[in-house]
Amino acid sequence: MRRTHMIGLAAMLAGSLAAAAASAQTQPGQPPATPPAQPPQFATTKVPGTENVYIFRYQGHQSMFVVTSAGVIATDPIAYLRPQAATTYIDEIRKVTRAPIKYLIYSHHHYDHIAGGKPFKDAGAIVVAHRRAKEHLAKLKNPAVVVPDVGTADRHVINLGGTRLELHYVGRNHSDNSLVMYLPKEKLIFTVDFIPIETVHFRNMLDGWVGEWEDSLRKVLAMNWERMIPGHPYAGGRLGTKADVQNLLQYMLDLSAAVKVAADQGKCWDTAVKEVALPKYEKWGAYSQYFAGNVERYCSYWGRGY
Ligand SMILES: [Zn+2]
Repeated sequence: MRRTHMIGLAAMLAGSLAAAAASAQTQPGQPPATPPAQPPQFATTKVPGTENVYIFRYQGHQSMFVVTSAGVIATDPIAYLRPQAATTYIDEIRKVTRAPIKYLIYSHHHYDHIAGGKPFKDAGAIVVAHRRAKEHLAKLKNPAVVVPDVGTADRHVINLGGTRLELHYVGRNHSDNSLVMYLPKEKLIFTVDFIPIETVHFRNMLDGWVGEWEDSLRKVLAMNWERMIPGHPYAGGRLGTKADVQNLLQYMLDLSAAVKVAADQGKCWDTAVKEVALPKYEKWGAYSQYFAGNVERYCSYWGRGY
């Protein structure tokens, strides 16, 4: 995503955290005594109920890391246009363990999540991504992005220090190389960008695959997990559930059906973008900013076949 867009989304998501902090401080019916607290620039949180799974948040981006006796599995460096995010990430890992960082796994190939891997690579980490992410990054040659050492097949398993981490490719959605990172013992998944929580999709779902995206959500729902760590702090920064995935799937089906009606009446793109509304989802994050873009994307699909 482009810089201005990325910063806009990150600011909005940081705002979601600030709103949650403010509401936590305010009594019902009482105005806040102090202005809403801004969340700190970064935070590291151990996932409750786990022994060794952590979330590192830097502004509006999040990454998961897993600490084992044999080393650390880190994921997305989240350091696009801010290399200090990656060094802060490593400093935060070092507060938990001195064990070596063995792996750095990319969720997908978009720069805002995976730029800044060099200090991890320099520390000895093997950089892993889906094979198509590796192909894209090898062509793009962005100087801020480390090209993966390993491009995986659609299923890949990492066993380290008693922890099993499975990488599942569930089809094309927000990109053609998004991985679900699955910890079966902990019944946790880490997903990035393709399952926003109570939030509409980003802009016009650029790089997205309508029609296949919905199927990928069904595949995620069929997996045996209970909690989801998202790549951005949506909905006040909470973890996701299967109900959230089901609700997102329903949103996409409702949107698709509404836009198809408009497309069949020859209203795509501009008239449909003005007329289609889904009041059921008006309270979701980014609705006022990006719902029109979501309509535009489905208009391309139903109105033109792409
Ligand atoms: Zn992305």
